[in-house]
Amino acid sequence: MQVIVQKFGGTSVDGAEKIKNVARIVVNTKRKGDHVCVVVSAPGDMTDRLIEMAKEITGNIYPREMDMLLSTGERISIALLSMAVQELGEKAISFTGSQAGIITDTSHMKARIVEVKADRVLEELGKGKIVIVAGFQGISSEKHVTTLGRGGSDTTAVALAARLNARVCEIYTDVDGVYTADPRMVPEARKVPLISYEEMLEMAATGAKVLNARSVEFARIYKVPIHVRSSFVPDEGTWIKEVPENMERPVITAVTFDEGEAKVTIRRVPDRPGVAAKIFSKLAE
Ligand code: ADP
Ligand code: ASP
Ligand code: MG
Repeated sequence: MQVIVQKFGGTSVDGAEKIKNVARIVVNTKRKGDHVCVVVSAPGDMTDRLIEMAKEITGNIYPREMDMLLSTGERISIALLSMAVQELGEKAISFTGSQAGIITDTSHMKARIVEVKADRVLEELGKGKIVIVAGFQGISSEKHVTTLGRGGSDTTAVALAARLNARVCEIYTDVDGVYTADPRMVPEARKVPLISYEEMLEMAATGAKVLNARSVEFARIYKVPIHVRSSFVPDEGTWIKEVPENMERPVITAVTFDEGEAKVTIRRVPDRPGVAAKIFSKLAE
């Protein structure tokens, strides 16, 4: 039996009906014969709401406590999904990132995974259980709860897929694949059937949030094939994997955007040494 990792984003686990839908998908996969390891995000906009709650308490940032707080969102999803799977008659167990052996460095709120132990995951998969892991979180070498940065559940999924030697890491989300532009902004955008790791990395790094950039880096290093697809329709999505170099490829794969950037033009800047430094130090401040 081979392992398959299936990751479900926040919109896919937002409420009881959606959680039951996810349970049906993972149970069907298990019944077709694979070992199934599931990674889930916090429901809906829970992570944003937790951040707002902290802001109501303080204007300061307490990184360790923020990680303690934000890691709770994913815990809600794993527990509810495990119950939903068991209701369908399959064995399941939920694990926090720490229990699943996701070991990170000590940088709170943007921790990097340094090791995936996964012994307990393998043991439970071996007993025929569907193992459900909380995305976006781990435990640091100093035994503090850490989180991986926004969108980090994708990274948890790909890291586990690499460690478990999974045949594929399926990323289930609210769009049915990777498009030539964000389909919510550009309705004419087309679904791309196959994208290389390099192209996807560039897209993710320049704003296509459908996949977290670090998850793509991980996939490229460990050669994990990713299949981005919809939680709501069964169609084939987009494959991200190694593409043979001699294959004919379009010059441009997609257009990305980042709403958090702006262009400022300063006119009539005097052409004198030191002026640029003066402007950029003010901007940096
Ligand atoms: P999840 O909660 O499942 O992780 P995200 O919101 O992080 O989902 O990512 C999915 C979103 O990515 C889509 O709803 C879509 O608006 C956005 N997106 C941006 N660029 C693209 C693109 N090129 N192709 C597909 N989706 C894109
Ligand atoms: N819940 C986290 C976030 O909203 C992680 C994730 O969804 O991947 O950023
Ligand atoms: Mg995401």
